[in-house]
Amino acid sequence: MTNLYKEELKDEKIFLSDDKVFYTVEGEGEYVGWPSVFMRLSMCNLTCQGFATEDSPHGCDSYISWSVKNKLSFEELRTLLEEEGYKKHLDNGAIWKITGGEPLVQQPKLLKFLAYIDVEWGTIPRIDFETNATIMPDPEWLRVDATFTTSPKLSNNGDPEDRRYKPDVLKWHVTNGSGFKFVISKKEDLEEVLQKYVEKFNIPRERVWLMPCAGSRKEHIEIAEEVAEYAKQEYFKFSPRLHLLVWDMALKV
Ligand code: SF4
Repeated sequence: MTNLYKEELKDEKIFLSDDKVFYTVEGEGEYVGWPSVFMRLSMCNLTCQGFATEDSPHGCDSYISWSVKNKLSFEELRTLLEEEGYKKHLDNGAIWKITGGEPLVQQPKLLKFLAYIDVEWGTIPRIDFETNATIMPDPEWLRVDATFTTSPKLSNNGDPEDRRYKPDVLKWHVTNGSGFKFVISKKEDLEEVLQKYVEKFNIPRERVWLMPCAGSRKEHIEIAEEVAEYAKQEYFKFSPRLHLLVWDMALKV
């Protein structure tokens, strides 16, 4: 990637959400509980409506990511990561969670940014992407220490199937060992997971996490037991939404 680097890259811009970068513990999926530096990018190619809550009134649990007012140059973003202590957390072993929105909307820019970081820091920290699995990852990601946690959107998300269901991208993620998180609110969701994903693409069951569809601690407590029973029944993993249990917030934690 270093060959991509040019001095002028420092002025290229990445679009970030309102909460930009924050340090927390991962709340969902394979890395739940891990210290993590979240970098939340702007923009998404979907419009989920499934889980409206008080702090997420439009349904998408990352609605603040739709804002594009934070346009940081590569140099500004690197400086923020260094001066606000995030690089230190990454150096000490935190995972760099690159999320959104849908982070791969800005994939070409991200590849350049990581090339810039590689030259500036002499290394690229451990990355895990959070993606809705509708945009094909660039093969370049296989050459760095990057993994993908997918969260494919079921029919309850409200978008037409041809926007949210991309078989070629799903196959790529199965082939490359990505994790699959599914938000479950009822038994029909589980049946959709089985028929349209796990059985159709032969997803290994140990790479599947079921999560309660909840936007608050109260809702989480109400539905978690049902979802855990589905996970037991199908030999999937159960994932809490830890940020709801710990902070009772869907965002900025
Ligand atoms: S894919 Fe994620 S960021 Fe995009 S609209 Fe759905 S919940 Fe929001």
